[in-house]
Amino acid sequence: MAAAALDIRGGIIRPEDEGYEEARRVHNGMIDRRPALIARCGDAADVIAAVNFAREEGTLLAVRGGGHNGPGFGTCDGGLVIDLSPMKGVRVDPRAATVRAGGGCTWGDVDHATHAFGMATPGGIISTTGVGGLTLGGGVGHLTRKCGLSIDSLLEVDVVLADGSFVTASKDANPDLFWAVRGGGGNFGVVTSFVFRLHPVGTVFAGPTLWDLDRAEDAMRFYRDLIAGADDDLSGFFAFLRVPPGPPFPEHLHLRPMCGVVWCYTGPVDRAEEVFRPIRAFGPPTLQLLGPMPYPALQSMFDGLYPAGLLQYWRADFVNELSDEAIALHLRHGGQVPNFQSTMHLYPIDGAAGRVGKNDTAFSYRDARWASVFYGVDSDPASMDGDVAWVKDYWEALHPFSAGGAYLNMIMDEGQERVMASYRGNYPRLVEVKNRYDPRNVFRVNQNVRPTV
Ligand SMILES: Cc1cc2nc3c(=O)[nH]c(=O)nc-3n(C[C@H](O)[C@H](O)[C@H](O)COP(=O)(O)OP(=O)(O)OC[C@H]3O[C@@H](n4cnc5c(N)ncnc54)[C@H](O)[C@@H]3O)c2cc1C
Repeated sequence: MAAAALDIRGGIIRPEDEGYEEARRVHNGMIDRRPALIARCGDAADVIAAVNFAREEGTLLAVRGGGHNGPGFGTCDGGLVIDLSPMKGVRVDPRAATVRAGGGCTWGDVDHATHAFGMATPGGIISTTGVGGLTLGGGVGHLTRKCGLSIDSLLEVDVVLADGSFVTASKDANPDLFWAVRGGGGNFGVVTSFVFRLHPVGTVFAGPTLWDLDRAEDAMRFYRDLIAGADDDLSGFFAFLRVPPGPPFPEHLHLRPMCGVVWCYTGPVDRAEEVFRPIRAFGPPTLQLLGPMPYPALQSMFDGLYPAGLLQYWRADFVNELSDEAIALHLRHGGQVPNFQSTMHLYPIDGAAGRVGKNDTAFSYRDARWASVFYGVDSDPASMDGDVAWVKDYWEALHPFSAGGAYLNMIMDEGQERVMASYRGNYPRLVEVKNRYDPRNVFRVNQNVRPTV
């Protein structure tokens, strides 16, 4: 590959360079790909140069934001990786209540900057996840019920297109592109910066409540009924887990299989005890770690559980209804969770996210109540097969009770039919936008929308 023709201010890393081994790695330790070139892009000009190079050379191109993608779409074998991680600028405009974040920011970068102004925009639940991939796929987290998906607070993006041109997309400028990037993933170009609306979220009342497995059936029903009638201010995702073997969890619970909810309440803190009274009383929980905390503390609460390099296998579904029959299957499989990093989560995506029309953005499943994820994680390759089998069996048992498609940010590479099922009626329009902006499928290392021209 004629790398000499590629002039990247942030630097190029080749296989023979020191640092290549580290630079080629993504968050999922199961992904072991060897790109020919890694372009560490420092600005939009670098991105334009790299996209032009890939297109002209006919090189496979992968784009990396935070590198957290399960199937490893932030890298490739033999091609060029655009690594956006140097592009971490964040600028808060407190008067307009907006934040502009560079294409390589993590949620930790953004939360840190906005918290100083007592504001936040909805991100994911682990602070090291990239703003880029998470947002372009939709963005589910603690603020989803209150503020919507990450894309529902997105106001504007700067994009380098497949032909190397640079455009801004918003509801007024290139609205077709703006519609498509809100859920359509990295299919349409490289986003060099994102502008989000900020919300007045500073201190939240949050944390987990855990129940023993003999209360799991009741706990799941209690959770289902409570969240259905709860104000948008209250969110909580349900989980089957093994208690992590370290503080703040008491030693006698370490590695015990349990179920629980990680709550986040964004209403007035002086109302929190009243809101949590039925939750504290139900069971009561074996463990409650609830209290007021800065929003970034909640956002980074579980970072230590998921360092880079762990082996990860993902399955997911959207869920409309948590029937008693489905709950029985959750008990059977969830109770078998193999280790303290593997888990099943049910993220509520109703509330503000559910009030957006299913055709208003590319993200189609606005009528679903939950995004479920079955997550097999291990540090030991010897036990990973067992974790993968647990995920597959669990998912296969529950899939018949799902809405059909899945949150594409939480699956592996499951093929074209799964992508189409997840976009449902929005898929043909995504193909139209793809035909217009990337007819040669330069951006294809992703949950791909295939052009038809
Ligand atoms: C530990 C962990 C926790 C997670 N928690 C959540 C969560 O709470 N909520 C949630 O919604 N998801 C969550 N996810 C899933 C996450 O949304 C996806 O893994 C997502 O792909 C990560 O984005 P990234 O930028 O880090 O990944 P990358 O691997 O860098 O990129 C993912 C995809 O997005 C594209 N992309 C990334 N940045 C850009 C950009 N600037 N322009 C164009 N294309 C780009 C890439 O080309 C690739 O196709 C989590 C993942 C992990 C590993």
